[in-house]
Amino acid sequence: MGYPDGHVETTLNLTPNLRSTVGITEIQCPQCGTDVRMGLPAGSVVKSVTAADQPETDGPRQKARPIACDNGHECFVLFEW
Ligand SMILES: [Zn+2]
Repeated sequence: MGYPDGHVETTLNLTPNLRSTVGITEIQCPQCGTDVRMGLPAGSVVKSVTAADQPETDGPRQKARPIACDNGHECFVLFEW
């Protein structure tokens, strides 16, 4: 395709340690907007983030997990997996 000799296609450089990247979701603190990183099960979907009491889960595949931002605001992430 017109590339000069020796051209190397750029390939995705997969890192052997996938634990640091897979399943990390950035949640925004509902009180100050700070990004909070948390690990969620693969394929899970965040349903809501609330700073109030722990939300009711709707079904066995939903879970609420407490998180806290760098400013100490505690909130709950409701996710489905
Ligand atoms: Zn906050």
